[in-house]
Amino acid sequence: MRRWPLAACLLLTACCGVAETPRVPDPKDNGPIVDVHCHLFNAKDLPVAGFLRAQGVPGFLALLVDRIIQGQTDGTRSAAAVKDRTQPSDEEIDRVLEAVQVELEGESAVRVEAETREQAAERAELVEALAGGQGVARVGPRGTWGVIRRHARWAILLTAGTQEIARRMLGAYPDVALFTPCLMDMEHWFNDSVGRSFEDQIAVAEQAMTLAPGRIHPFLAYDPERARWVRAAKLDPLDLVRKALSKGFVGIKVYPPLGYRPTRNTNDPMAGPRGKAWDDELEALFAFCEAEEVPIGAHCEDPGAASSPAAGKYADPRGWDTVLAKHCKLRLNLMHFGGDTDLIERGASSWAWHIGQLVQKYPHVYADIGAHESLFDECQRADFLGGVEKIRQAVPAIGDHLMYGSDWHMIVRHPTEQRFLVDALEHMRHVERRRFAGGAALDYLGLLPGGKNRARLRTFYETKGWRLPSWWVEPGTP
Ligand SMILES: [Zn+2]
Repeated sequence: MRRWPLAACLLLTACCGVAETPRVPDPKDNGPIVDVHCHLFNAKDLPVAGFLRAQGVPGFLALLVDRIIQGQTDGTRSAAAVKDRTQPSDEEIDRVLEAVQVELEGESAVRVEAETREQAAERAELVEALAGGQGVARVGPRGTWGVIRRHARWAILLTAGTQEIARRMLGAYPDVALFTPCLMDMEHWFNDSVGRSFEDQIAVAEQAMTLAPGRIHPFLAYDPERARWVRAAKLDPLDLVRKALSKGFVGIKVYPPLGYRPTRNTNDPMAGPRGKAWDDELEALFAFCEAEEVPIGAHCEDPGAASSPAAGKYADPRGWDTVLAKHCKLRLNLMHFGGDTDLIERGASSWAWHIGQLVQKYPHVYADIGAHESLFDECQRADFLGGVEKIRQAVPAIGDHLMYGSDWHMIVRHPTEQRFLVDALEHMRHVERRRFAGGAALDYLGLLPGGKNRARLRTFYETKGWRLPSWWVEPGTP
């Protein structure tokens, strides 16, 4: 994923209209395709504007998304777009953007009495960009206007219900046999509230599974700060994990940039007195996941949604070495593979190289290419793939441990969204195709014959009366 300075945004020039999703040309060559990194969260589940700003998205785009969400969730605008199962039309986006523009230009826009100079500049920049649009459909998808429209489309999507978002995900990639969307638990970290409880988020994810039996199995989010509170209430934080695993969840997502390291938080001045409790809770989680073969996905790219400028570095893959030394059978996906831009810019010092070293040392370390835009940018693709190839020459096992993952719906803001799967399979030629498409993911997820997750899911399907899904590989199948 790129950082999002405006100059970079302006380079994204591909079509952002709603085109038909291209299909994978030779489905049998890939085996079952698994999207091991995707999301179903909506505007109620996280502080969206703060989340975007933390990722380096220009302030005026974060402001746009925030205003659209505020407008749409209070029911005043464009309810039709939210209900509609298709993507919002050009006209719909036009109407929403017009309303945002009117609000921002009006005096009522300056609601925040102490609007900083920076915020005022962001607002002015957005008003100017919107005014320059003069009707999306006529101006076309390129340049700033294309970027604004894609953010508007994403913002409208975030105001939809989780079921609707799940339907959109299933429809976006019909060739994907299994999605493992990651829940987000950020309630304890940003000075902003979330719109529904974590328990409600879990409940709607459970409902989403029923939309396409066997095709969606979520990852539960695990936050050591929430665990600390649960423990203080004399409850076991792992009870929530056990319960989720019995209901079709297949893994755990952790997000160190929120403000904690995978281990060694004790005595960290940033953690303060909470550090010891986080270490204890994380250690309990890792021991449980290792014993029960529960895969963990960890955000591993800077920028991420860091709760403070320093916390982005907590995603450093080297932080996992100590954990893996103790729990060498832990199944770990270092999501985003350390970041494509980082690999291109820093070569052998990049996080991707450090991940390669972990893959060499430990048997169950994986990485996904979620939101790797450089694969789709002709100028950057060769640099990225060249970087992957150098790691593969040093650590051949990396070819078997890289997994397809889109980071959908975060990539709805990118012009390459609909081609993500097809292009990823086309370009990732340095790694073994079937492993990359889904074989490595089924291995990581413990869903191959003999895997404990597979046994848990078999029981789950029996309870639900569901048939075994298309990705279910029988023993002896090549
Ligand atoms: Zn993600």
